[in-house]
Amino acid sequence: MKPDTRYIEVAVALPVFQTFTYSAPESLAAFVAIGKRVLIPFGRRRITGYVLGPIQGLGHKEIKTVLDVLDDQPLFPSAMVPFFRWISDYYKYPLGEVVKNALPGGLNIRDYVQVSLTTDGQAALDSGQLNPITKQILSQVQPGPCRMNELYKKIDQNIPAALLYSLEQQGLILRKQKLSKARTKARLERYVRLADTRPAAVKLTRSRKKIIDLLTASGEISVGQLKEIVPTAAALIKPLEKAGYLTIHYKRVYRDPFGESIEPDSARALNREQAKAVATICSYFTKGYKTFLLKGVTGSGKTEVYLQVADELLKSGRCVLVLVPEIALITQMERRFRARFGDCVGVLHSGLSAGERYDQWTRILGGEARVVIGARSAIFAPLENIGIIIVDEEHDSSYKQEGKLRYNARDLAVVRAKQKDCLALLGSATPSIQSYYNTVTEKFSELILTKRVEQRSLPEIRIVDLRETRDTRGIGRYISSPLRQAMQETLERGEQVLLFLNRRGYASFPVCSVCGQPMRCKHCDISLTLHQSSNAYRCHYCGFSRSAVSKCDVCGSDKIKLLGLGTEKLEGMVAKLFPRARLSRMDRDTTTRKGSVLKLLKGLRDNTTDILVGTQMVAKGHDFPNITLVGIICADLSLSFPDFRAGERTFQLLAQVAGRAGRGKRPGRVILQTYNPDHFSIDAARQQDFTAFYNQEIGFRNALNYPPFSRVIQLKISGKDPRETKKHTHTLGDLCQSLKASESARYQGIEIMGPIEASLTRIARRYRWQILLKGSSARMLHRFINQLMSDHPAGLSRHQVQVAIDVDPFFMM
Ligand SMILES: [Zn+2]
Ligand SMILES: [Zn+2]
Repeated sequence: MKPDTRYIEVAVALPVFQTFTYSAPESLAAFVAIGKRVLIPFGRRRITGYVLGPIQGLGHKEIKTVLDVLDDQPLFPSAMVPFFRWISDYYKYPLGEVVKNALPGGLNIRDYVQVSLTTDGQAALDSGQLNPITKQILSQVQPGPCRMNELYKKIDQNIPAALLYSLEQQGLILRKQKLSKARTKARLERYVRLADTRPAAVKLTRSRKKIIDLLTASGEISVGQLKEIVPTAAALIKPLEKAGYLTIHYKRVYRDPFGESIEPDSARALNREQAKAVATICSYFTKGYKTFLLKGVTGSGKTEVYLQVADELLKSGRCVLVLVPEIALITQMERRFRARFGDCVGVLHSGLSAGERYDQWTRILGGEARVVIGARSAIFAPLENIGIIIVDEEHDSSYKQEGKLRYNARDLAVVRAKQKDCLALLGSATPSIQSYYNTVTEKFSELILTKRVEQRSLPEIRIVDLRETRDTRGIGRYISSPLRQAMQETLERGEQVLLFLNRRGYASFPVCSVCGQPMRCKHCDISLTLHQSSNAYRCHYCGFSRSAVSKCDVCGSDKIKLLGLGTEKLEGMVAKLFPRARLSRMDRDTTTRKGSVLKLLKGLRDNTTDILVGTQMVAKGHDFPNITLVGIICADLSLSFPDFRAGERTFQLLAQVAGRAGRGKRPGRVILQTYNPDHFSIDAARQQDFTAFYNQEIGFRNALNYPPFSRVIQLKISGKDPRETKKHTHTLGDLCQSLKASESARYQGIEIMGPIEASLTRIARRYRWQILLKGSSARMLHRFINQLMSDHPAGLSRHQVQVAIDVDPFFMM
């Protein structure tokens, strides 16, 4: 920013779409810069705002002044401002909230009100002559000042504002406005080194002498390290400093999220296809924006392509951003990148503590981390001079953020690459229909890897028709005899088996055996799942749980039939079938603890696990070198979802799971059990034929005018009152219809579907409705929704009914 600029544009983290103009007083003007936070007066409060840029040509409105500048250094480079604006505009989300979402959490400071007891108040409390609520309030603040919102929480009845006012007037309490401190800060560590001029050596105790010797040898050392060698060091350094032997100072340190060291490696030999892909990408380094889709079969060595491209870019001084769908996969990717590039690798994901995330953020900002690996939120990494943005497993639905700012990181990667005039590289064995369509229409360039590395073959896939075992009782119904036999053979050879079932828990469909009533969640329109390990029925949508000994809500019977197979029950069945095999299970229930996924993966690698049972978590790009048999227990679970992407998801999931077999030296095989052997998603997965699947699916999308042939925005309406929610939904539907009718020529290509009740009609006590807007072009659809919003500047939500706008929705249920 030019130093003479006095007026600045500020975004605030509040639900408002516009930005605000503030002036910087002379004393602060020199410190204001784009990407820094400022403390500003806003209405009657003081809040944090983000400086987006200077403003010229002001109107004559009265302009408020910035109160303080909160950062020494900007938190994001100015080049990210257009990116934030694009996101706000496209995803219909307030700009300041977009910035807040992008930054590591815990930084903002804001006002709060603190209540404390006065001496008069203490006297009144001692007198005991108070009405109950006043007594409650005064006793709460008696031990010490209390925040207003905590006071509200502690006292279960409503506290009238007038009562607080009158207590203050009577001088019994004191209310003070305070500024909360930011929760996340840089970490400082104590270091010691020898003083420049030291007193002549006198006799020192042994430990003191040892410290001096250590400092003489190493120059500077942290107190933490010192304590490992001399446990009493902390108590000794102070007197040594006083006596003039050494100096103590503080240094900024980074919290290390990695924990373990990694053996360095070097570039591996590429096969012809890999080499061609690397060469093609490298030839575009200086040619501006371009997106590549790297379509490589499972096990074809896509990561090595990423590594060698990254190497070339780093040599030319540019940075690399790598997005990976899951934290478990980040560790895998991070290990390979750190082995190749060492300390210049940074990571960003939700598994980091707030402090670690903040440290990583500043390492990236400071140019120390030049390769950043992370989950979807890493798309906001404050890198400058990006050379390429790599999105691994680009088809994965975890790139879509639900709730709050609803964005798709894969799509944002392409947007950011375009804005930065650099490359984007999307990789997958099973590309999304959207991305592949973009190669067909030549928006993206296709790169292909058809062979597995080291000439390994793709696994052979055999279909088992579950309709034939439908009447079988017991285990045979779920584990067919061909699968059982294949497991037997695999275990006898000392190899590993992976069993895939996309449903966790013990029984996913408990039903009363007397009256037939399913066990349902109290707050959702959904069947509960029995979890034997926690001895409870649990709702997978809202977390509601009830005891496993619950009785039927309708007839009171305690005879509950446990229908519906989950991974927990499957694990138990397998343990009975193969009592000597060592089993592990990988699903959301077994991986909640930090490091648990790594432990599971290590068990496979060290051959201490024979059979792994898992949900879709196992399908995601993991490299399991010793698995030679994959058993898909039921391939059909995702087929019947009321969603136009159901077929695409099923194909991707099955092809990915199958791809976990035979990634090591020995060939793999897959047994796929299904009720729909003739369904094209399943048949294409069996043949591992993406093209066949694409050709079928794209015809279906075209016929029904679904993406990629149209663009979609979903209005997700929800509320606790069923009547209000329904009423508001219909009002909204009518608004859409009349907007379309009022400008029928302009909005001819807009299709309004609904309002309809969502397929999951109630979740967490909220009734859910939807309106789907389809547009023949993105521009028309956005113009339509923008007009709808500007006609209702207060927002589309009303009373207790919330309306969320989901642009390019992923989960339509
Ligand atoms: Zn019953
Ligand atoms: Zn629920």
